[in-house]
Amino acid sequence: SIQIQLAARPEGWPAQEDFRTVQIEYGELKPGQVRVENLYLSVDPYMRGRMTDAPSYVAPYALDETLTGGAVGVVVASASDAVPVGAHVLHAFGWRDVAQEDASSFRIVEEIDGIPLSLYLSMLGMTGLTAYVGLTAIAGLQEGDTVFVSGAAGAVGTAVGQIARKLGAARVIGSAGSAEKVELLTARYGFDAAFDYKERPVREQLAEAAPDGIDVYFDNVGGDHLEAALDVLNRGGRAALCGAISTYNDDDKPAGPDNMANIIKRSLRLEGFTVGGYGHLAGEFQPLMAEWLRAGEIAYDETVVDGLGNTVQAFLDMMRGANTGKMVVRLSRS
Ligand code: NDP
Repeated sequence: SIQIQLAARPEGWPAQEDFRTVQIEYGELKPGQVRVENLYLSVDPYMRGRMTDAPSYVAPYALDETLTGGAVGVVVASASDAVPVGAHVLHAFGWRDVAQEDASSFRIVEEIDGIPLSLYLSMLGMTGLTAYVGLTAIAGLQEGDTVFVSGAAGAVGTAVGQIARKLGAARVIGSAGSAEKVELLTARYGFDAAFDYKERPVREQLAEAAPDGIDVYFDNVGGDHLEAALDVLNRGGRAALCGAISTYNDDDKPAGPDNMANIIKRSLRLEGFTVGGYGHLAGEFQPLMAEWLRAGEIAYDETVVDGLGNTVQAFLDMMRGANTGKMVVRLSRS
């Protein structure tokens, strides 16, 4: 099996030299084990946090160990009745072409006609659930709310905009980092308004897009986006703090919002969350999303990069905004 390991802990932006590719020989299958050839690997922003040796909600990656993360593959050998050869599975063994482990570590996923299996890494999987949890359990989305989401053209963001609408939001506003992404948000993803945060100050653009304020802010970005949202959140507004990607490669501590007092004056509620704490909502979310996808009611994009050898580059490109929707790595077997 060819696997990608962390060779050194990056400071600031990671570089290719911080990673190494190794060959691992798996032995014969032990009773209960399965061998899986991966079809798609996920590259996700949270992986940047795990490359640093600091306490967080998931343990840091160990040096000289294969980077773990979401992947979808097909079972090619099995010593388990529960997970037979040919089954498609979702698992967390990450950046490798072949995984051989106990069958209990793999979850069989259903193939849905016309829907790529890679969607178990996005709309039907972790990033879709993150959107759903943030909007419902954290922000308490109500019918008629105006919702603003940053990072709107990414994996989580494209799910947030559409799920918000499905659950009754009256107006959905998004920000993203290019004119093409902004166009896509309104033309394809049903956003009422969208803007390019690189063009002018976020504060100015959000105030223009939300003349009547916003009720819910779904924060993927942090920094000036959070300040802009605190300016326009209506009384009783809620913010789901999901991520702060604008700061992940900074070694300096980010400045706090300069308008924190609005939280008091307008009785706002800001709540951070990690999707790992809400696995129990997957049973409610997945059938709903599968139904919407089957009915063709949810749009999705993937930026697909070919080859295990391009995984690190795909990860770095995603952190810089090269993706629309979910960034995934496709392996030759698929
Ligand atoms: P995306 O698919 O959104 O990819 C990352 C995007 O971030 C890029 O495409 C880029 O888009 C944007 N970006 C990069 N730098 C900046 C910046 N300085 N300012 C604004 N935007 C920037 O990734 P995901 O959907 O997987 O993740 C989105 C967010 O959600 C991340 O913050 C992630 O950490 C968080 N997350 C949190 C989870 C949780 O449990 N709390 C679970 C999953 C994700 P652009 O071109 O628009 O700049």
